[in-house]
Amino acid sequence: MKNQWKIFIILFFGFSHQTWSDNPDYFSPKAGFAKELEETRNSIVLTFDDGPLLETTPVILQTLEDFNSFLPTPVRATFFLSGKSLVENYEVDSMGYIKKPGTENLKSIELVEKIIKAGHFIGNHGFTHSRMGSPYLDHHKNLKISISELMEVHKVIERFLTPNDDLNHHWFFRAPYGNWKESRAEDYNSHEELKQYIGPIFWDIGGEVKFSEKGTPIDAADWNCSHHQKLQTLCHNQFSKMDLQECLVWQCARGYLNSSYLKVNFKGGIVLLHDIQELTTHMLPYVLRVWSGVNPYMDKDPELGKKLESFVKTFRFENAQVFSFKNLNQIQYFKSYDSRLIDQPPVE
Ligand SMILES: [Zn+2]
Repeated sequence: MKNQWKIFIILFFGFSHQTWSDNPDYFSPKAGFAKELEETRNSIVLTFDDGPLLETTPVILQTLEDFNSFLPTPVRATFFLSGKSLVENYEVDSMGYIKKPGTENLKSIELVEKIIKAGHFIGNHGFTHSRMGSPYLDHHKNLKISISELMEVHKVIERFLTPNDDLNHHWFFRAPYGNWKESRAEDYNSHEELKQYIGPIFWDIGGEVKFSEKGTPIDAADWNCSHHQKLQTLCHNQFSKMDLQECLVWQCARGYLNSSYLKVNFKGGIVLLHDIQELTTHMLPYVLRVWSGVNPYMDKDPELGKKLESFVKTFRFENAQVFSFKNLNQIQYFKSYDSRLIDQPPVE
């Protein structure tokens, strides 16, 4: 078969047999695309943030299940769960950080059970989806708040992070917006439980929306892609070819695909998606199919299908060891890291 690229979709996590005490500094801003992976394989690591959400997370899980039904080795994604999505009746302070934790939302907990049961992984995405790099958390009096941002999520998800699955007994954290600072790592490394986390886990693909000179997306981010003015214009111009919604979905998917093949030198990377976005429920089947070497448009719209052909690569799935602890300390891949260290009120 032509274009026989070996792109591996590798879903969290690799691990070594080191113990936590061998590596006391897990909390460092260095996590990212594993070096070993970058050098030797073309890989896609699927991650979903901000959930769970009753309306959309089950659809994402179903898509993954359908996709897995014809794969020799199932895709195992990682869901970075937000406290806001797990708990109800919580209160935040004037800066938007946690003031009162609230009570567990049982329907959300059921969704977490489903995620685990389906063989996927979960991680901690903080409680209020606030900026962890904020100077507001620097003052000693607010150390309690910065600790509780992670601990109040940890208390809810800890029961699912059991050692009965070798791949699932390490604790991972992704900072909302990728907003982070090194001094926060010191806070967490001095905390008995939080020091066992690895993080923050950044991403390579899915962080921003960018366009080529021709006006087509070369990069996409599911949380703001379909509303983007340029994309709306592009799809309105193509309306005769495709239904508007389908065009938006496809163009956002195209941004993700472009990014995965071009941005990291044809090496794929860690993909950021959001299981709370309706767009993502529509887009996921496309990107999974194209990443797996299927061209979903060849029959439907041959003209577009032909253009799409260059994106279609064949990959194999495997549950490989993406993040060995050793790699986590070697890798730095997050170009927006410095620019995001700004103190702003949290936004949705
Ligand atoms: Zn998020």
